[in-house]
Amino acid sequence: MEPIFSIIAPIYNEVDCLDVLYQRIREVMESTGELWELVLVDDGSSDGSNGIIKRLAGEDHRVRPVVFARNFGHQIAVTAGMDFARGQAVIVIDADLQDPPEMILDLIAKWREGYQVVYAVRTEREGESWFKRTTASLFYRVIFRITDIKMPLDTGDFRLYDRKVIDVMKRMPERHRFLRGMSSWVGFRQVGVPYKRAARFAGVTKYPLRKMVRLALNAITSFSYFPLQLATYVGFIAAGMAILAIPVVATSRLAGSNAFFGQASTLIAVLFLGGVQLIFLGILGEYLGRIYDEVKGRPLYVLMESPEDKPASQENIKSKR
Ligand code: UDP
Ligand code: MG
Repeated sequence: MEPIFSIIAPIYNEVDCLDVLYQRIREVMESTGELWELVLVDDGSSDGSNGIIKRLAGEDHRVRPVVFARNFGHQIAVTAGMDFARGQAVIVIDADLQDPPEMILDLIAKWREGYQVVYAVRTEREGESWFKRTTASLFYRVIFRITDIKMPLDTGDFRLYDRKVIDVMKRMPERHRFLRGMSSWVGFRQVGVPYKRAARFAGVTKYPLRKMVRLALNAITSFSYFPLQLATYVGFIAAGMAILAIPVVATSRLAGSNAFFGQASTLIAVLFLGGVQLIFLGILGEYLGRIYDEVKGRPLYVLMESPEDKPASQENIKSKR
């Protein structure tokens, strides 16, 4: 029988979190009295997480392992989870227990009221550095400003999606994914539920600055042309300044002034405009590289193992004996 609820947890080296994650999710989900499944996506872990996922799947048939051939990144891991989830409501949760599994019940309650996307809004963040909190807060506000869709502030990927929304998102094949934005873009009835984001249960963040910057660039380029249009605005301003400067320089020269004489002012102007042009070339490159990636049309992820393989591989082992 198909489960009503699917829980998706992306996992990248979370060996110390997995047992507790499973236990807490099991407790919460059993209290609903409905059928459920837990899709654990192993995003190329190398710390033994894979062994634990396999053991959990062996002990409980509701645990379905999806194993990547290498690390493809958090957003892609969640996407794979969505591809395999069978539930009528799909809940995405971090594996490090920063999102308390008990909150799932609140998300489900809103879903039963008829909302199709229920996102958890972080009112407080525990155990995260000042730098992470400030950059995250700035990030949400910049995205809100410059993109066309109004993504709710301070929400992460911890949210519930109705089957209808999942089916739409599965038809969005873009590779540089920003799922929060995509789930806002879809529309439907959406609502937020406030929660306190806990500290990590174990281990360290798997989102170093490099990955955070990537995610931010993906978010902006996926949902906004603003950086491209910026070149037009700056171009008009620079050209306007030049036109205004011509009569000023000409009259001051006729009046006998040497104010704009010499190479320094020329050099500054050339370097400044050269710099601005290179920056915009870089911005163009960000978009162009993404277009190139889309055109190549490679699969979003490569699987080493999918939930369907489970019985087959066990049979293989048996027949070998
Ligand atoms: N994650 C992943 N692949 C990655 C990076 C992270 O699957 O390349 C998972 C990670 O295991 C965790 C979730 O994504 O379950 C969120 O990552 P993390 O907690 O490190 O991010 P933070 O909460 O620090 O922003
Ligand atoms: Mg975390």
